[in-house]
Amino acid sequence: MRTGINHLFIPGPTNVPEVVRQAMNVAMQDQRAHDFGAGNLGLFSDLKKVFRTTSGEVLMFSGSGTGAWEAAITNTLSPGDKVLMARHGQFSTLWVDMAQRLGLDVEVIDLPWGAGAPICEFARRLGADKHGAIKAVFITHNETATGVTSSVAALRRALDEAMHDALLFVDGVSSIGCLEFRMEDWGVDLAVTGSQKGFMMPAGLGILGVSQKALAASKTATGRRCYFDFADQLKHNAGGYFPYTPPTQLLHGLRKSLDRMMEEGLENIHARHHRLGAGVRAAVAAWGLQTCAEHPSLASDTVTAIRTPEGVDAREVIRIGYDRYNASFGSGLGPLAGKVFRIGHIGDLNEGSCLTAIAIAELALVEAGVRLTYGSGVAAAQTVYAKAPQSFHLAA
Ligand code: PLP
Repeated sequence: MRTGINHLFIPGPTNVPEVVRQAMNVAMQDQRAHDFGAGNLGLFSDLKKVFRTTSGEVLMFSGSGTGAWEAAITNTLSPGDKVLMARHGQFSTLWVDMAQRLGLDVEVIDLPWGAGAPICEFARRLGADKHGAIKAVFITHNETATGVTSSVAALRRALDEAMHDALLFVDGVSSIGCLEFRMEDWGVDLAVTGSQKGFMMPAGLGILGVSQKALAASKTATGRRCYFDFADQLKHNAGGYFPYTPPTQLLHGLRKSLDRMMEEGLENIHARHHRLGAGVRAAVAAWGLQTCAEHPSLASDTVTAIRTPEGVDAREVIRIGYDRYNASFGSGLGPLAGKVFRIGHIGDLNEGSCLTAIAIAELALVEAGVRLTYGSGVAAAQTVYAKAPQSFHLAA
């Protein structure tokens, strides 16, 4: 029997606040009732605030981030279209795989896992593409597998400097709602996320920001879509309805999580994630371990991927954390299996949560064979947290 709570330190699904869970405890509803739609309109307008777009649209599909990827591609591109992508982690790799399976002509830039998005190489290839063969460029804002954040603003500048018209696709699954994200300012055409990370919800909603330029592209794109068709969704969403049975409980949860996000304020949310991430990174440095991110400037504020020393299997660290201490850490994905474990510091967390994660990681690391001094990581993180402003306190 497991006593106490399971400490969830994976980078999604994230902790669902008690008030959000309670908000979802409602009876089933008639999704075609004349008064059902009005209650949902505010969801779309608040989601636009989180995506920071006024001119674009935000759509919600039952599904997850992967479904939203598929919706983004199939609605705005046509089979055979050339697109520019990079592979530097599990999620960027899966996105390339999807684009290829959907029939796109993918120009792939391969990088070590732990590198950031190759802005200079993107810029070079966009600059060389004088006839506009590249229809879209894709960037994974936050590579959850490696704990690497890349600059979407820098890619926008590269597109502008090359005077290139390609659509800008952003995977914001583990960034939107946690890290600074500016759909309009950065000229993002398709921004993709899911409900189970920054929105502090169960999985079940694929959420998409779509620019007017992307909507225009959807009028002529011949990608095969049906369930994910933007036009069907937009027609119904305009009145707060959905073309298919919506997960009504999730809509109630989303209302509550958006209320919390608006109350805390986006800047405060970003600052909190930065502070919590800085504490975890200080702990890793105190242990004498390396992060997977190649450079400190790439370090993600939502997840830290930590390399275990040669001879120590990261899977053991995760197993010990789970079996002995009822704590879940993220695993090393793909080629990082056994080499990396991840501490998620994303969503509804505070300093106490992260100190618990660090303390349990110390226990698991030592038992798995890593030489470190108990408390060294905890003390390093405490030093960071003591200096930084305290977490914002939300009304219950
Ligand atoms: N992209 C990133 C960066 C992710 O972290 C994930 C999931 O963790 C996905 C895409 C896939 O999203 P989902 O699991 O919601 O389909």
